[in-house]
Amino acid sequence: MTLGRRAVVMGGSVAGLCAAGAVAPYVDEVVVLERDELPPDARHRRGVPQSKHPHFLLNSGRRAIDALFPGFEADLIAAGGMPLVASMDTAYLEGPGWTPRKQGALSMVYASRILIERVLRDRVRQLPNATVREGASVTGIDTTGGGTPHGRVTGVRFSTPDGDEQLDADLVVDALGRGSSVSDWLVAAGWPETPVKTLDAKVTYVSRWYDLPSPAERSDAWWWQHMVLMPTQDKGEHPPEHEFLVNFFPMEGNRSIACMGSWGIDMPRTVEDFTASAERLRTPQFAAAMAASTPTSEVHLTRSTGNKWRRYDLLPTAPEGIAFVGDAICGFNPFYGQGMSAAAMSAVLLRDALRSATTLDQSFAKGLLAAQRKNLKVAWGMAMARDRGYECATGTETVPAWQRRILAAMTWPMFNVITGASREYPVVDEHFARVFNLDESIGQMMRNPRVLWALLRFKVRSALGRLTFPYGFDSQLAPPGKDWTPGADAREGALA
Ligand SMILES: Cc1cc2nc3c(=O)[nH]c(=O)nc-3n(C[C@H](O)[C@H](O)[C@H](O)COP(=O)(O)OP(=O)(O)OC[C@H]3O[C@@H](n4cnc5c(N)ncnc54)[C@H](O)[C@@H]3O)c2cc1C
Repeated sequence: MTLGRRAVVMGGSVAGLCAAGAVAPYVDEVVVLERDELPPDARHRRGVPQSKHPHFLLNSGRRAIDALFPGFEADLIAAGGMPLVASMDTAYLEGPGWTPRKQGALSMVYASRILIERVLRDRVRQLPNATVREGASVTGIDTTGGGTPHGRVTGVRFSTPDGDEQLDADLVVDALGRGSSVSDWLVAAGWPETPVKTLDAKVTYVSRWYDLPSPAERSDAWWWQHMVLMPTQDKGEHPPEHEFLVNFFPMEGNRSIACMGSWGIDMPRTVEDFTASAERLRTPQFAAAMAASTPTSEVHLTRSTGNKWRRYDLLPTAPEGIAFVGDAICGFNPFYGQGMSAAAMSAVLLRDALRSATTLDQSFAKGLLAAQRKNLKVAWGMAMARDRGYECATGTETVPAWQRRILAAMTWPMFNVITGASREYPVVDEHFARVFNLDESIGQMMRNPRVLWALLRFKVRSALGRLTFPYGFDSQLAPPGKDWTPGADAREGALA
């Protein structure tokens, strides 16, 4: 038995595609309305300009998509997605220098954003009761009883090259991304203004795509797949580039994105400035990898990165007949790699709510918003913890200067203790991987007595110079490729 005749999903990007998978089993028909013409393969398109930048798909997000479309992960890998272990496959430059390479808990499937979307799109196209209407630009919603206890969204209006159209719907899903106008349309229909929480830490990304030399053509020192340079915490004189967060991000097809990002610093826009900035980074190794590769794009710059949470859950009565997923409800500073995963998890919550619902009434709408709030709080808390420490940040969630200074002084050192302790203590490694993947909040991790005990022991052993694994390898040299995993030497010997 279905819960309704038709669901209309507004927006056909990651959140909309996940939502289509979530609602398909519970309605006779799903229609996805997408303004762009969608490419048959993995290509950039106008509505998703952020696809030109690295997109980390966290394990929680990948699992959520896999729950909606079983076999998604296998499809992504078959299409070229690369399953990697961060501590083995990443050359990671922290404050003191390169970290030692060894096995660890943090793993991920790396792929371009356009490939992730293409694999998802293929799965939606296989749903027997789903249609994707391309070139369909949503212009408004139909409602009844706006703002009253049972006010309801009843349909969607949209325009196509052939003219204006309207579709009635038992459920409408807002997956229109950051720029969604739905909260304005609800106000126009009689609902009160939706409270919005914001914090814009003025993060800017610049990215350029590269074809890599084949593995055989690379030097022996290029063992890594991914290179990450963390911002310096050195308070002395240094070029602004030392404060960049930098990724040489691997993707399918032997390609990488060279990406530099910052909180509140002017970023290079031209190819010449991009190359010159890369040469002023904390290590020459990043620019060397760029120079050994072939650029295939111009420099792409994005500033649309503020945290923004539309709190529909705080409305006195929730609009019935509508659900919200993805950036349309909550967008994050992309440094933490959370957006797609939060979108996929919101869609899973929508599916779970539909699974246990008998009607799409006020209690369904309120229950879903409450479940999403609980889930979004984990990612939101992580973004707030660091972004609030930046003086350049603006928005409703800024804190007084004294609090900001404490946060600024604490968050990076704390992060360094956690990443350092991750190398020494598997319990910290496992919990930190869970936090990174949104499977656990940072608060939960910091309340875990085993983690706290390990952090304390790490601090003491570090002060006494008694750590097991070396760290702080010279940043001017190539990242060392030796595998420090206990037993690795013996394994290598056995293989030789
Ligand atoms: C620089 C940058 C880097 C990022 N890095 C990461 C990362 O590492 N990991 C991660 O998980 N996330 C990352 N994100 C966030 C991620 O891109 C978003 O969270 C994710 O794309 C949200 O998907 P969405 O479907 O909600 O919205 P969007 O992807 O923005 O899609 C909205 C869709 O709605 C369509 N649309 C808009 N208006 C209309 C209309 N009127 N009618 C019909 N269709 C319409 C658009 O064409 C588009 O297809 C990054 C974002 C940025 C900006």
